[in-house]
Amino acid sequence: MFKSLLIANRGEIAVRVIRTARRMGLKTIAVYSDADANAYHVAEADEAYRIGPAPAAESYLRMEAILDAAARSGAGAIHPGYGFLSENAAFAEVCEKAGVVFVGPPPAAIRAMGLKDAAKALMEKAKVPVVPGYHGDNQDADFLAQQAGKIGYPVLIKAVAGGGGKGMRRVDDPAQFAKELASAMREAGAAFGDERVLVEKYVARPRHIEIQVFADAHGNAVSLHERDCSLQRRHQKVIEEAPAPGMPLEMRDAMGKAAVAAAKAIGYRGAGTVEFIADASAGLKADGFWFMEMNTRLQVEHPVTEAITGLDLVEWQLRVAAGEHLPLAQKDIPLNGHAVEVRLYAEDPAKKFFPSTGRLARLRAPENMPHVRMDMGVREGDAVTMFYDPMIGKIVAHGETRRIALRTLRGFLARMEVAGPKTNLGFLIETLSHDAFIEGDIDTGFIDRHLDVLVPPAEPSPRILALAAAAYLQTRARAAGADPWSATDQWVLGGRRAETVDLVVGGVAHLLKIEPDAGDASLVRINDGAATVSNAAMTADGTLSATIDGTRLAAACVANGSGFTLIHEGIATEFAVVNPLDVDLAADADTGALKSPMPGKIVQVLVEAGATVKRGAALVVMEAMKMEQTLLAAADGKVASVNVAVGDQVEAGAALVAFEEPEK
Ligand code: ADP
Repeated sequence: MFKSLLIANRGEIAVRVIRTARRMGLKTIAVYSDADANAYHVAEADEAYRIGPAPAAESYLRMEAILDAAARSGAGAIHPGYGFLSENAAFAEVCEKAGVVFVGPPPAAIRAMGLKDAAKALMEKAKVPVVPGYHGDNQDADFLAQQAGKIGYPVLIKAVAGGGGKGMRRVDDPAQFAKELASAMREAGAAFGDERVLVEKYVARPRHIEIQVFADAHGNAVSLHERDCSLQRRHQKVIEEAPAPGMPLEMRDAMGKAAVAAAKAIGYRGAGTVEFIADASAGLKADGFWFMEMNTRLQVEHPVTEAITGLDLVEWQLRVAAGEHLPLAQKDIPLNGHAVEVRLYAEDPAKKFFPSTGRLARLRAPENMPHVRMDMGVREGDAVTMFYDPMIGKIVAHGETRRIALRTLRGFLARMEVAGPKTNLGFLIETLSHDAFIEGDIDTGFIDRHLDVLVPPAEPSPRILALAAAAYLQTRARAAGADPWSATDQWVLGGRRAETVDLVVGGVAHLLKIEPDAGDASLVRINDGAATVSNAAMTADGTLSATIDGTRLAAACVANGSGFTLIHEGIATEFAVVNPLDVDLAADADTGALKSPMPGKIVQVLVEAGATVKRGAALVVMEAMKMEQTLLAAADGKVASVNVAVGDQVEAGAALVAFEEPEK
């Protein structure tokens, strides 16, 4: 076996490959772009080499840069991960030429599966069922329309060079065919530099079921069973599981055999996935599945297979690449229980899942959960940038049954704390909680069909608002350096005054009236309702607990530029605090700067660079929302620089005053 492994990738897959390589005693070598100089995968590796600027085309996709890093580090092998260069036959070739083992299939096998039309023709020859359709050379629009008529509507137009759902159009109505064809071709041309398409039958109630295959250099090939990846949004997988719900034994057997035949037909070696589409309109049937494509690499969702087989697929990849035989024969491949994976993305479900970037102010998860695995690409404090895929990581639960795995995963996600960029965590929890999903009543249209109930409402619930009131009182008390329940100001028992505060969520202000009630309790009047908040407490790292109308609740509270983010049951709600009496929540201790809590105009600057200030000192006065706000120091410190002048217009979150790093 080679002694060192270079991982030509980043994020969670690089970290995950490093973990296995290290366990196997290999030296691990990372590569990184400028955006990733301090990334998680770099910290995890034994050595790391810079390969270029942030854009992938100038770093992770540059073969010479990666081969150069391999030469400099003396790497014995290169693992390409997924994406980037993983399915690039030319890269596999140059590795071979340079005398470095490419952990993947032979270049010819990558090429054979590279184009969907050629792959289908090959599979037909190998007697693997393929979706009925036309995948020939004739690209004439009239001819293709005629073929579509023959196949029968609805049909699917697909780019032959396709990937990621690009250049794909479903057509239900023959009158729309020409228009959709032109648009699919345009998109394919722009995305792949290849306009060619194929036309196939659109399968009714489609389920995406794929088979994990493995082959060695000695003619052996096995199936590691199926994964169901039907939970998709825009043809992109969101939740994956193994085995497929409702899978008959004879169908698993037939699919496994078809996938192994596919691998053998192209002289495959290593890990690969054969993707099929199944017609679930009358349940899964052994004659109701068709080949779609083969991915000649490790898949994002491989951990669900690892969970049910107890095998380490990266270990198998490395052993096969080193020339070893497959460790197990087909009859010895285990299948235990059920596993479900979710992909946690930095994206905003409320804004059509638009990617969301920024620093992860919080990224925590329950500890000591033996049946849950997390493959993370970032750590708390790391940034999600616009340069790469916005996936934060994957969370996988394993259980004896599907229901147990689902329940474990849902419970785990609900106790995760993620703040900074917006994420799909709440959306994932809703999906795992949906009755039809729990029943296994799934197909690739599931998410679109149920989208309105799966995207959590943008409006905070009364319970979240009551918790926010508790968080507000606690945060404010902390900034003032006092315990709210013992201080002698307005928060003292009995002596407390009523006050009002506007908590702004997504631009909508919620007016909270906080009135002292019996004991340490406060009555919080929110919009039309009221809640009693008592027994509130918050630890130094923002773990909040409070009793709301008699129910003890826990949440996490993380300071942000203009207020705080409250995380309760996986849902992160960003609150901007608007209170003319008190805006000292604005100081962001993490970045050592006083930040503007909201957009406004600077009317007074009360400090200068070099000044030593005490906590609570007034630093800047700004005018916002037609009121003057005095921004106070959150801690003792020395002013490094003042970044604004009187008359400046500033954005929310702008660093107004920077502090020097505290000594020691
Ligand atoms: P890409 O390579 O662009 O990801 P695929 O061929 O893998 O494209 O298809 C992606 C997804 O599109 C599948 O997982 C499935 O949900 C859907 N799909 C593909 N082919 C069909 C079909 N013939 N009928 C119905 N749905 C399909």
